[in-house]
Amino acid sequence: MPEHHTETVTALPRPKTLLTQNSRLAKLKIVNWSIPALATRLPDGRTVSTCPAAGICALPCYARQGAYLWPSVKRRHQANLLFVLDDLRGWGEAMIAELTRRNQRSKQTLWVRVHDAGDYFSDDYLLEWLRVARVCPAVRIYSYTKEVERFKRLVEPDPPENFFWVYSLGGREDHLLDPSVDRVADVFPDEESIIRAGWHPQTADDRLAVTGPAPVGMSVNNLPKAKKFIAGRRFSEIQVAYNRRRAARRRHRPLRVAGRRAQQHASPNS
Ligand code: SF4
Repeated sequence: MPEHHTETVTALPRPKTLLTQNSRLAKLKIVNWSIPALATRLPDGRTVSTCPAAGICALPCYARQGAYLWPSVKRRHQANLLFVLDDLRGWGEAMIAELTRRNQRSKQTLWVRVHDAGDYFSDDYLLEWLRVARVCPAVRIYSYTKEVERFKRLVEPDPPENFFWVYSLGGREDHLLDPSVDRVADVFPDEESIIRAGWHPQTADDRLAVTGPAPVGMSVNNLPKAKKFIAGRRFSEIQVAYNRRRAARRRHRPLRVAGRRAQQHASPNS
């Protein structure tokens, strides 16, 4: 093994505790699990896409700003991801052990939010979470996800009873969703616009996103970049507009390329 690889592993020791609490979820006694948002380059040089189905959400992403950029937080999320990548079954066993321990100590039902940052980036990783859920039936596991195709293929046919999810709009796979059938969540400029649209806010308790009435509305985070980005619209609308612009660019590109080629091949006398 090359020397620099050994140094990398030493630099990111395997986390002893997998679950943490952020200030917002701590009030509700919800623990969470996170990996880097969108994509990351690990110290050993590997680049991993951790939100492959992310769409316009990546631009104002709360998990790519503020405290998430602190070196200690980045290192921690990378160490979590490394554990998953390098020893998925060992990670699953460690998660089961920690959930069992925490659940025994907890006076109330233990809720886990998967992916304060990141998403179910591979089939194997999602399947391991499903196994964890089945081994720990007393624990409630929930998440927001943009991995629509993967969930419809791997989760929807036979979901564990304690595994809950909501599809969050603003991703590349929004077009696979039907809000009259699928549980969806959208990001709105503010609480009033959620109510006006007849959607249901989860502000009082994040778990309402998976247990309360649907469709679910979330107010955009307070970071100036996000406020500027949303500019009175919803994430789903911004994604649709983006998809249209992209499709139009694609439609015109072959013509421009064909036009350039025709010019290059045209003889001066033609
Ligand atoms: S899927 Fe979530 S964590 Fe990933 S880029 Fe989008 S908002 Fe950020």
